[in-house]
Amino acid sequence: MRTATPVPWLLTLTKTPEGAVRLKSLLRDLLGLKDIRVHDASFDGVGLVVDVTPTSRRPRCSRCGRVGSGYDRQRGRRWRHLDLAGMQLHLRYDVRRVSCKRCAAVVVEAVPWAEPSSWFTRPFEDHVGYLAQRSDKTTVSDLMRIAWETVGSIIQRVVARRRDGDPLDGLTTIGVDELSYRRHHEYVTVVVDHATARVVWARPGKNAATLKAFFDELGPERCSKLEAVTVDMSAAYIKAVTEATPAAKIVFDRFHVQRLAHAAVDEVRRDEVRQAAPDGRAALKRTRWPLQKNPWNLTQGEREKLSALTKTNRRLYRAYLLKESLVSVLDRKQVNVAATKLDEWITWATRSRLEPFRRLARTVRGYADGILAYVQSGLSNGRTEALNGKARTITRRAYGFHSASGLIALLKLCCSGIKMVPVYHYPGSTH
Ligand SMILES: [Zn+2]
Repeated sequence: MRTATPVPWLLTLTKTPEGAVRLKSLLRDLLGLKDIRVHDASFDGVGLVVDVTPTSRRPRCSRCGRVGSGYDRQRGRRWRHLDLAGMQLHLRYDVRRVSCKRCAAVVVEAVPWAEPSSWFTRPFEDHVGYLAQRSDKTTVSDLMRIAWETVGSIIQRVVARRRDGDPLDGLTTIGVDELSYRRHHEYVTVVVDHATARVVWARPGKNAATLKAFFDELGPERCSKLEAVTVDMSAAYIKAVTEATPAAKIVFDRFHVQRLAHAAVDEVRRDEVRQAAPDGRAALKRTRWPLQKNPWNLTQGEREKLSALTKTNRRLYRAYLLKESLVSVLDRKQVNVAATKLDEWITWATRSRLEPFRRLARTVRGYADGILAYVQSGLSNGRTEALNGKARTITRRAYGFHSASGLIALLKLCCSGIKMVPVYHYPGSTH
């Protein structure tokens, strides 16, 4: 419960100078921050406010780190630090602005406990980062008593601090995928390193220009080291990959091929439902899930529904077989066998008198090289499927971030190998 009662300055409670010194050093030990001097403390409506200054007298530019001359002060700026006994703890300091010769600008001074743009101390931010890797949005927000949107900007800074070397170094096989968020209205393009199963790059958008930005960042030398790139069959990504790395092999993501086959079956099913007599309609509707499944995952009941189809609806059953046989081509181990089987499949699908499959056959013919490249390399975004699943969960959690930058930071925090540990503090230790 908040109290509105004014509480006296703590140091006025001590009667002697020795007592004041002892209280200051107690407070400094409690804060556990480096290069900080404590002057006083008081309570306000939400917790303890500790007045501090950096130990260095002369201000440093927060952009270049150079000592500069003080320009003016921003009175009473506060930074939230780790809670103390369940109470919010704020640092308060009249932060200076520095007139920096090197930057030719007036810049806020660097303070030892926080990033220049942040209203939180680094240990507080790291604590949020640890929680954001592991818990849901409400837990992080409630426990830390900060808005979810604020969590987004905090983890951007955490990720920037934790970035260990350049994640774009040493890439040979990568996967490109798009993730939708905001109820499929917005997209981010994500690049995954197949060797480490880590997200190495992400940016809002899903067109050729988005992916081109990745290759620009990678540069010609590192581009030339790329051996294979897995993508879905989107013309935009294919264009960007072929232009940037003509030598790299394009591999089509098998899960994307499978999704197209699933979609074709479903289209046939919906057509059949529309044309069926009212009594047959319900039975056809119930076949939706069995038709999507792999044969070995079917329950006895589902298997019966499917076998009934062989008599009641041969078109739909044909669609199911077409889907399954395309999947089995992808399961082949030898490329030449797969190539023959894929040719046979294209012929079959073209003659199937099922329009969705005739269209799919044209797509598959156009992209046959990339599909067979999967059989040869075994590379697929699905190989990092666990990562993809994780990334998709994260996009759901990121709901509430106003911009893509929060989502991208959360993706990098959780999927790029950053190890966060809980923030502990012991007597005598500093953060
Ligand atoms: Zn500077």
